[in-house]
Amino acid sequence: MSETRHDWTKEEILEIYNKPLMELLYEAATVHREYHDPNTVQVSTLLSIKTGGCPEDCGYCPQAARYHTDIEGNDLMTVQQVKAQALRAKASGSSRVCMGAAWRNVKDGPEFDQVLEMVRTINKLDMEVCCTLGMVTENQAKRLAEAGLYAYNHNLDTSEEYYKEVISTRGYDDRLQTIENVRKTNVTVCSGGIIGMGESVEDRAGMLVALSTLNPQPESVPINALVAVEGTPMEEQEPVAIWEMVRMVATTRIVMPKTQVRLSAGRTGMSKEGQALCFFAGANSIFAGDKLLTTPNPDVNEDMELFKQLGLNPQRPFVKAPKPETVEAEDSRYQPLGEKPKWSRPNHKIQRNEEAKEKAKMARGPKAK
Ligand code: SF4
Repeated sequence: MSETRHDWTKEEILEIYNKPLMELLYEAATVHREYHDPNTVQVSTLLSIKTGGCPEDCGYCPQAARYHTDIEGNDLMTVQQVKAQALRAKASGSSRVCMGAAWRNVKDGPEFDQVLEMVRTINKLDMEVCCTLGMVTENQAKRLAEAGLYAYNHNLDTSEEYYKEVISTRGYDDRLQTIENVRKTNVTVCSGGIIGMGESVEDRAGMLVALSTLNPQPESVPINALVAVEGTPMEEQEPVAIWEMVRMVATTRIVMPKTQVRLSAGRTGMSKEGQALCFFAGANSIFAGDKLLTTPNPDVNEDMELFKQLGLNPQRPFVKAPKPETVEAEDSRYQPLGEKPKWSRPNHKIQRNEEAKEKAKMARGPKAK
């Protein structure tokens, strides 16, 4: 069996990424079969439980309040709404629900308490629960774990070097710190990135170095292709070619053999044949549902049709790690501490982000700040 290594170098990863495609595919598919059933793919449903109005400036994201995009913001969903959507997702073959809130970080208080209740509710439905809520402290990660959280998503997005060209409102270290906080619990880590943001192939390899040298490696690594949304700083980026996606998936599979490699945003731009190649290259997880937070995603029926054509089966929940226990709110061992993370990079400016902000001000009219 190929071993899990935590000492990958950028040069080694570039060498893999740039192999002749047939060789790369063969190697990735071989590693994939050592650790995973090649005919099983996990189906996850992503729910945007709180959309828009985010104070961060991620250059790819239509939910950043400072850009002018046509997404409709909404307040935090109720526990009942989330339960209804989770039941629907379960009925259509999803084994995991990932709840995303457009927050910079988790704040202790009634909204976080509501999210904890959502976690308890979904865990009791025998589904894996994942959250992506921005930065979390160790205490908040412990409270999520106690509620029954299975996974926490916090993407590194790209290489440390290119990160400075994408987001000015926080640093790479902030990301790594949240992952470290989650690692102090039994919650599994989901962390990946986006290709097609104008980064180089070296940056893609740099991101894979950052992820694969974590010990343990993330249990789940989403690979997104940028969906260039009008009004964001990256609105003019060219779509990612399928070959780049296949290379990225295959390389991720080889350097992180045990992880679930997730085909995430950008699937609507891929043909069925392109997606099939990604599955062959080692992708074994997809997001289902007609929207991924705010960007389009293939219809569930289309996905199930593709599964039928390819002979794929949806993965059962809790195959990779046991189901967490849920502790009720009144029995919790942890108190809210009211911690507030500092803004780590107050003077950092990114030109294309600044330009998109200015454009948004113009579009909103003269009274807008
Ligand atoms: S990616 Fe997340 S943190 Fe960044 S602007 Fe969007 S919602 Fe906010």
